[in-house]
Amino acid sequence: MKLSIVIPVFNEEGNLRSLCERLITTLDSLHHPYEIIMVNDGSTDGSEKLLQQLYKQWPDKLRVINFNGNFGQHRAIMAGFERVRGDIVVTLDADLQNPPEEIPKLIAKIEEGCDSVGGIRKERQDNRFRRYASKLNNKIRYKITGIKMEDQGSMLRAYRRHIVDLMTQCEESALFIPALAYSFSSHPGEVEVNHDARTVGKSKYNIYRLMRLNFDLMTGFSLVPLQLFTFVGICVSLVSTAFVIYMFIRRLIVGPEAEGMFTLFAILYFLVGVLLMGMGILGEYIGRIYQTVRRRPRYLIKNILEN
Ligand code: UDP
Ligand code: MG
Repeated sequence: MKLSIVIPVFNEEGNLRSLCERLITTLDSLHHPYEIIMVNDGSTDGSEKLLQQLYKQWPDKLRVINFNGNFGQHRAIMAGFERVRGDIVVTLDADLQNPPEEIPKLIAKIEEGCDSVGGIRKERQDNRFRRYASKLNNKIRYKITGIKMEDQGSMLRAYRRHIVDLMTQCEESALFIPALAYSFSSHPGEVEVNHDARTVGKSKYNIYRLMRLNFDLMTGFSLVPLQLFTFVGICVSLVSTAFVIYMFIRRLIVGPEAEGMFTLFAILYFLVGVLLMGMGILGEYIGRIYQTVRRRPRYLIKNILEN
């Protein structure tokens, strides 16, 4: 049984060496053959050079894929998935927030019979805002997509090979790997893992990127936003029909009136707002359909170091 570790790397030069050392110590102690695939997602710091040095140091353990630009964490992982040789595939972040020492826990859970295992970050070491946002997020996501995962943001995860092969067959351009894996697995599991604070470098996600990731998730796994909008549309039409009837009867009884202009404007603006939001939601889906039918490559590879 061979293990493959897939790690997306974007400007992590301060973490890479100790990441490799800790990984190799942990993996050696498991006594299974293994490979570590580092996918360099277009880093602009010294990561690429450092990866080359590390590859020279451990050519039989490390494989390095260099991208020709920044394509995002999930696409980087996908590139690794497409080239794995192992039977069990583990993903983790390069920033040492996911301690490599927790990998054996995931493997043990897989051996118990799960086909995909997620790490639940106990005592999550992110700031208050991130923690609160992701809690709320989890709730909304579960309501909309039906994906029941305690912690989908954690990237410390393990999959059996057939799940990974199914994921690489998906051609959509907006990816969210944990949810995709969840939708393919018949025995998803979760285990508690440690989570450390980031000591070197800074987080690559700001609110805007998090929002985009969430839109990917919603549109990729559910039509609920569209249906919700249809539902709002139906309610608004019903209410306005009642309103028109009321106005009509009032006209017959009271006669012509010119009051209520501003109320009318307020209602109108509200409706325009709802309409714009609906168009936005539609656009989110259509944009993704467009991206997918164009079938442009999801990422471009500059070179690969492996043997
Ligand atoms: N990452 C990447 N491409 C990106 C952004 C991030 O490959 O465009 C990698 C990054 O190097 C790290 C992982 O994805 O290994 C998670 O990123 P980060 O730690 O910044 O996210 P956070 O922990 O704040 O969610
Ligand atoms: Mg991180």
